[in-house]
Amino acid sequence: MLAPTDSRFARVIIDRAIHRELDYAVPETLAERIGVGSRVRVPFRDKHALGTVIALLEQSDAKGIRPIEALVGDAPALNESLLELARWMSAYYCCPIEAVMRSVLPQVVRQAKVSFKKQMFVLPGGKIDKDKIDMLRRRAPRQAELLDAITKLREPTAAAELLRQTSLDNAALRALVKRGLVEVREQTVERDPHSDEEFLATANLVLNEEQVAALKKIADALAHPENAKPILLHGVTGSGKTEIYLQAIRATLELGRTAIVLVPEISLTPQTVERFKGRFAESADAVAVLHSHLSEGERHDEWHKINSGRARIVIGARSAIFAPLKNLGLIVVDEEHETTYKQEEAPRYHARDVAVVRAKIDKCVVVLGSATPSLESYHNATTGKYQLANLTQRVDDNQMPLMRIVDLRQEGRGENKMSILSEKLRAAIENRLIKKEQTILFLNRRGFSTSLLCSNCGEARNCPNCSVALTFHRHSQRLSCHLCGHTAAVPKKCPACGKDALIYSGFGTEKVESTVAQIFPQANVKRMDADSMTRKQSYRDTLLSFRAGKIDILVGTQMIAKGLHFPNVTLVGIINADLSLHLPDFRAGERTFQLLTQVAGRAGRGDTPGEVFVQTYTPFSPSIQFARHHDFSGYFEQELEFRERCDFPPFKHAILITVRSTHEARAKLSAETLSRRLKESLGEEFMVGEATAAPLEKLQGNFRFHILLRGSAIVRLSRLVRETLDKLPLPEDVIAAVDVDPYQLL
Ligand code: ADP
Ligand code: ZN
Repeated sequence: MLAPTDSRFARVIIDRAIHRELDYAVPETLAERIGVGSRVRVPFRDKHALGTVIALLEQSDAKGIRPIEALVGDAPALNESLLELARWMSAYYCCPIEAVMRSVLPQVVRQAKVSFKKQMFVLPGGKIDKDKIDMLRRRAPRQAELLDAITKLREPTAAAELLRQTSLDNAALRALVKRGLVEVREQTVERDPHSDEEFLATANLVLNEEQVAALKKIADALAHPENAKPILLHGVTGSGKTEIYLQAIRATLELGRTAIVLVPEISLTPQTVERFKGRFAESADAVAVLHSHLSEGERHDEWHKINSGRARIVIGARSAIFAPLKNLGLIVVDEEHETTYKQEEAPRYHARDVAVVRAKIDKCVVVLGSATPSLESYHNATTGKYQLANLTQRVDDNQMPLMRIVDLRQEGRGENKMSILSEKLRAAIENRLIKKEQTILFLNRRGFSTSLLCSNCGEARNCPNCSVALTFHRHSQRLSCHLCGHTAAVPKKCPACGKDALIYSGFGTEKVESTVAQIFPQANVKRMDADSMTRKQSYRDTLLSFRAGKIDILVGTQMIAKGLHFPNVTLVGIINADLSLHLPDFRAGERTFQLLTQVAGRAGRGDTPGEVFVQTYTPFSPSIQFARHHDFSGYFEQELEFRERCDFPPFKHAILITVRSTHEARAKLSAETLSRRLKESLGEEFMVGEATAAPLEKLQGNFRFHILLRGSAIVRLSRLVRETLDKLPLPEDVIAAVDVDPYQLL
């Protein structure tokens, strides 16, 4: 929406953090083109700055107003509702609006340095007569050959492509243009990462009864979106949730509205993209895909495709919730329980929660789907804040896999091979190899050995910057820190005591891979984790060859835990279920339950029922037992009781403040002072914890202290925290980071 000509001033927030909005005059030459959401270049102090117009004003009391220098980009980059969303985020997440803007608008759009790609196209030369070509053939055979090819073109063709096909060079083309025989034209081309793929059109499937009921809830909400509640779609893996999303999107498009689908980055596989592009293949442009592997140019083009209204469906990871779609009708958040929806740097927002708020602002429907809903969402559904739709059956009527718990305490220790693969799991793998079925082995830890210890003095090789042990990677033959990336050579002797007594202990995926390959030399074993998947293509290649049956055993981290559909996988082994259970985090039990359930969903989606082996030292922990019996509600009830007893979410909101500095004493003192001030200013209503050393005391060279706050009125708590922090001058080398609804408590 553009400025009425009488608004003479614009209120601007500039990208740099200054915690203030500034007024500028709108020069007459720009008056027609500047509107709310426009990107502008403005003078700031004695420099320039980029910013976003957030309001147009007839008057301004600001002194020394200077004019806007230029408009950046053509179309307004933000609409009013996204602006409102940004303001809400700023207040809720206790984060300056400039920082929020950095997430809402991708960098390529904010800076407008990248623009559309232009290419030369050759127009078809159908009318050129044969004689001309023949005449040319004697004098300039290459030009003749090219001309001949051009007469056969049906549509404008990229010059580069044509020259490549004919193995001719640009000189020939230039000569033909000069002779006036051929016409070329510059055209904008889209950088589409999927342009070389073909998507086969798929039709709606006939839904089963439960699916029909779930879709009806969504359709009813679409008919009256103003007062629709968010819908939680709780459906076991393979129960047909995605099919419901697809049909709900179809219904949304038919109402003339648009849709966003959020999926965790890790599930945004070629398979997923194909399913969506295929269903809406009638207009290939309609589906835009946003994820972190796009090049700047691709991101620029996808974003503009959305902003201009050409794309009507956006599928993407976390930040796709800010896609500038107009007339939004539906937001789907798949795997809503996934913690990757939480951004771990400012603004520390949770995309699912932002989705619920955006839906309210845009008056659209929001559907949250999961096989293992988060406690927060399920609680909202049981208390009536959300609507609940259930899918209890798998579409293929296959049974849920059999879960077998392997008590590692019963397995002889001693030999290393034993503690990685129990005898039961080993036998099960062997059995699959014989039957030519596939196995997935899951371990949420990379590397070969997770620590290097001295058996003489007991010292471990720790990261100099972080309070964790260095992991040994056999492939690179180095020790590396998984938190800060620090690497070190492997010492020959213990640097502490000088003895030649170093031993490797603990294991990661690299070691699982090599052990399994040793035990089953006839099997094709492949590993999939962040170390082995460094090339963009390797992820896809591995999945393709796994699908084609060329890999017998796939070993991996959470990268393989979810969303993939491989009918021939009949066995899943969880090498160590205890890894996440022992984190000092109130969500540890929830994560373990979710992980086991999700991983189990990988087994037996074809005709053969699956089997899951869970190796653990704590076989009777509730998350393992409830997961074993596929008992979501049993798990939910006991976990909810625990949360209530301890005043944790969903009963109370939490805010975690991390105070950090390279100077330990200053960090500690600042944290203690801050905790005291918060206690004074917050009052009885809120619980303010003591300043304590964080579980991860040192990270990237910084000493870290935590203050945990809890309370019900979160927006007020957020505001009070901001006010207290603003009044408390921290030493220059001390930083306080505020995390509202935290997911990382380390
Ligand atoms: P989820 O998203 O819950 O894991 P999907 O939507 O991926 O489940 O469905 C699992 C499989 O079942 C997919 O291959 C899908 O095409 C198929 N499917 C889903 N709904 C139906 C249906 N009503 N009839 C037949 N097949 C279906
Ligand atoms: Zn480190």
